[in-house]
Amino acid sequence: MSVVTEKSLQCELLVAGGGLSGVCCALAAARLGTKVILVQDRPVLGGNASSEIRMHVVGATGLHAGLPLTLEPREGGLIEEIRLELAVRNPQRSPAVADLILYELCRAEPNLTLLLNTTVVAARVVAGRIVDVTAERPSTEDRFTIAATMFADCTGDGRLGAEAGAPCLRGREGRDSYGEPLAPAQGDAKTLGSTILFQARRHDRPMPFVAPPWVRKFTAADFKLRPFGKSGSDLGLEYGYWWIEWGGCLDSIKDGERIRDELLGITLGVWNYIKNESGLDVAHWALDWIGFVPGKRESRRFLGQHVLTANDVLGSRPFPDAIAFGGWPIDTHPPEGVDAPAEAPCTQHHVPWLYDLPLRSCVAATLRNLFFAGRNISATHLAFASTRVMATCAAMGQGVGTAAALALRAGVAPADIAADSDLIARLQQQLLRDDAFLLGAANCDPADLARRAAVTASSAQPGGEPALVLSGRTRAVHGPAPAAHAAAGPANHWESVLEELETGRARPHYTVAPPDRARPGTHRWMSDPAAGLPAWLELRWPEPVAVREVGLIFDTGLHRFLTLSQADGYTRRMHWGEPQPETVRDYRLEVETTAAPGTWRTVHTERGNYQRRRVHRLVAAEAPALADIRALRLVVTATHGLDHARVCEVRVYA
Ligand SMILES: Cc1cc2nc3c(=O)[nH]c(=O)nc-3n(C[C@H](O)[C@H](O)[C@H](O)COP(=O)(O)OP(=O)(O)OC[C@H]3O[C@@H](n4cnc5c(N)ncnc54)[C@H](O)[C@@H]3O)c2cc1C
Repeated sequence: MSVVTEKSLQCELLVAGGGLSGVCCALAAARLGTKVILVQDRPVLGGNASSEIRMHVVGATGLHAGLPLTLEPREGGLIEEIRLELAVRNPQRSPAVADLILYELCRAEPNLTLLLNTTVVAARVVAGRIVDVTAERPSTEDRFTIAATMFADCTGDGRLGAEAGAPCLRGREGRDSYGEPLAPAQGDAKTLGSTILFQARRHDRPMPFVAPPWVRKFTAADFKLRPFGKSGSDLGLEYGYWWIEWGGCLDSIKDGERIRDELLGITLGVWNYIKNESGLDVAHWALDWIGFVPGKRESRRFLGQHVLTANDVLGSRPFPDAIAFGGWPIDTHPPEGVDAPAEAPCTQHHVPWLYDLPLRSCVAATLRNLFFAGRNISATHLAFASTRVMATCAAMGQGVGTAAALALRAGVAPADIAADSDLIARLQQQLLRDDAFLLGAANCDPADLARRAAVTASSAQPGGEPALVLSGRTRAVHGPAPAAHAAAGPANHWESVLEELETGRARPHYTVAPPDRARPGTHRWMSDPAAGLPAWLELRWPEPVAVREVGLIFDTGLHRFLTLSQADGYTRRMHWGEPQPETVRDYRLEVETTAAPGTWRTVHTERGNYQRRRVHRLVAAEAPALADIRALRLVVTATHGLDHARVCEVRVYA
């Protein structure tokens, strides 16, 4: 008789895979009241960003930062909350502390049950719907049957959907398949390869490295296009090299163990070359860590209700069902990886505009209740080459989790959401409320009482007028003048990187919102520095209102890079280990009531804030709202460094 215990669980949304797409999907749904089970096969969350793999998270900020008050492409919402949490609470850049922070965020949600060390291994489908999945946890000898109304496959490899029979795309599509001019003439089964990262550290004495006999032997010719030991953002010795890539000509799932073994030999071979043959002054450097879980770039991509193409990405095609946005270059790599030393390790086609990610690319074409988010979405190889970066995956995870929560409430199946324009409108408004960014979309939430108020402030500077907190938008994405934009460097980003290494000069490419979906302006109140702090912003209503909740969006410098990175050069481009200087630190909320005109009563005081989005519930859930409010003031008493207050949005709900 088996020692395995059979257990049955039930939830509304089952999320398989705890990478950043799965974590954000689960958090978004749970915070909106959905009962969620998040199943993650490994002991820690974060997927390729976890301590097991250590890739740093990038997104629409691209290879070049944006521009203050002009171009702020960094993702908002949950991934911004995570980035800010990591920046402030993990100054030491510990990968393990990052695991812990993700774990803590999930543990804080009463609606979210986290099953670690648990693998989804099967799915049962009845009449076009997934009914339940089987998940195994060998460490406790448990087997779970988990029933749910909706399922989200965020496993990267698409195991849940594959077990349910969802059709997949694999490899590189030929030019004619989707009419993509950048695609090869003929399609093939090849993919981007996998990578094992390493970390090295400088010591106070020489640290010899003796390579095991099975490492790959390299010569200088292998590194002509693969720079290392440079001061560029991620080309130092401390973070390993993403270009140590291999396995794209094999099956990244079925050949996974072979790929890991070969990659270990390649990675140590590169280190052996650096240490013992390169001639670099690296005697004091030693390996600190080497990954044993290869970072996998590509495997299955599902066939969804829409297949996102490179044409959608490059043309920034507007989608009525947009749930997130992207902006990373179309970043293709030779599948042969280091076996193709004469080929550049990547070709990064510039994406001129931020672009929409439609919900339909995250909903199965043939199953009624299956979503996906992350690198396995319904996209061609070329579109995926842009959407796969983790902040973009996280943004779509939040979009999918939010869609699931609203659809569950409305009793609509995932397959029918995109056709329900009312539901899509509510979904997009909820995403904006939760600080996601959607191209061209503005807050028009009829429940937001702030939109009916007149706004004044203690002071303001030109371009930062108080009424801008009600512009409906919370960031600038119009970008630099078109002339500056057009003067950017070569079409392939990687050539710019090599050029910068050689000449020290950067030629930034800017990825901006398309002009017809960007509203110029700063979209925030900025007090006058000469007036100093405190500074206040006031909302006054023509008729008294009842207030239960105040939502605030602060400026956290979305034009800058911000990500936990083991690369020193990249980290130096950020404000790491501290709050972002623009952020409002200390503030209070005051109200004036009909009963006491001219008198301000403090209803909330906050000290030490470092987050972009804050929501203050002014009364307990069951208690009546604060009644007869004529005006609300946000009084800013300190920032994290800036000499004036900045607030992007105020929302008020009864
Ligand atoms: C070497 C390399 C370099 C990269 N460089 C960058 C970069 O610099 N910045 C960037 O943002 N992106 C980068 N990417 C891309 C990015 O890491 C991936 O596209 C991204 O991680 C995809 O996110 P995801 O959530 O879909 O998948 P993952 O991060 O892979 O997460 C999926 C999770 O699901 C779990 N899982 C799998 N199967 C199951 C199952 N059956 N049951 C339960 N759980 C399961 C996995 O353990 C994993 O934790 C890189 C990728 C690689 C490999």
